[in-house]
Amino acid sequence: MSPLLAVYTTVLNNGPSANRVDMVFLGDGYRATDISTIYPAHINAMLSHFFDEGENPFPRYRNFFNVHRIDVISNEDGADVPPLGIFRDTALDARYYYDGVTERLLYVNESKANAALASGLSGAGFSAEMKLITVNDTRYGGGGGTYAVYAGGNPFSTEIALHELGHSFSRLADEYGGSSGTYTGAEPNEVNVTKDPTGAKWAHWLGYDQPGIGLIGAYEGARYWDRGIYRPSFNSKMRNLNRPFDAIAREKIILDIYNYVDPLDTWTSNLATLVDPDTITVDVVDPAVIDVQWYIDGTLLPEAAGELFDPQAWNLSVGLHQIMARAYDTTDWVRINRWKLEQSVSWSVLVTVPEPPGLVGMLMGLAALYPPRRTTGRRSLARSHPVCP
Ligand SMILES: [Zn+2]
Repeated sequence: MSPLLAVYTTVLNNGPSANRVDMVFLGDGYRATDISTIYPAHINAMLSHFFDEGENPFPRYRNFFNVHRIDVISNEDGADVPPLGIFRDTALDARYYYDGVTERLLYVNESKANAALASGLSGAGFSAEMKLITVNDTRYGGGGGTYAVYAGGNPFSTEIALHELGHSFSRLADEYGGSSGTYTGAEPNEVNVTKDPTGAKWAHWLGYDQPGIGLIGAYEGARYWDRGIYRPSFNSKMRNLNRPFDAIAREKIILDIYNYVDPLDTWTSNLATLVDPDTITVDVVDPAVIDVQWYIDGTLLPEAAGELFDPQAWNLSVGLHQIMARAYDTTDWVRINRWKLEQSVSWSVLVTVPEPPGLVGMLMGLAALYPPRRTTGRRSLARSHPVCP
């Protein structure tokens, strides 16, 4: 039968979806009686692990995510285990042994999942950018394709989900071996495996001693082969659960987050020249992650930082000036493509009233303590900040 669907419910709202990673959960094997009890409990356990338990890089980027769930109701709980003769009537047809031979490989009927997702998000105005399916079964298993599928009732569920997200969101390869032969295929597309025994594919991290992981190098055995293919770390979450993501995976996840998020949500309109503006503001996604630098006519103002800028405090000469804000992520977890982590906005500012003479030097002397401010201004706004003695 077709699944009974509700429209989506937003579980976490951290800002405009146009500038957030929209994480969407679907569920399979949750009956009507489970949908408001077990289902949200499984999702909350995942979110808690994801954002609150040190699973880097996610806690740092928590405010870069919105989270939604779609209530998909099944007739029965659990998932199919065909070799054991276990068949459950569930909305998305989740089953173990998805490939016919691997017990832990748990996945769903993707076209049914796609239909449930499209129906649940119809009219939502955003699309699912990180897709998870929690399956109401206790048997160990998961799978990473379009969806990160995991057994929501298993004690390792949240770790499985993170590993599968590595596949589904960031196209990371498994870093475990398996076949005792030697890999002879083409150089893999995934950023975290290579045929090159020097590890040049992640040269920018070679020799880095990552806390909790150890030395980044080139370790033989990955992507289901024991020989002829290399991984960046001795052991990481793409090889075993309850390990951190290694630096290469962590960096890829952050870069992928920035596929959907820019450092700034909004800013003072720069569509027209501003005439004697009192303030210019930017609104960063998260001030704990994003710093702002301000420039006047191309010159960095070391004393100016934060989301609010007061052009009148800088003694601009009469005429046209360019003010620029550069918002950037301060993380050292990304060593390539850092342009993705920053954003600049410029304004044309026209100053029409000259500065009172003689103040400039005195004000500049205070710059180390306070952003210099005028004692008299062309604006009658009350100033609560310190002024010149
Ligand atoms: Zn995997």
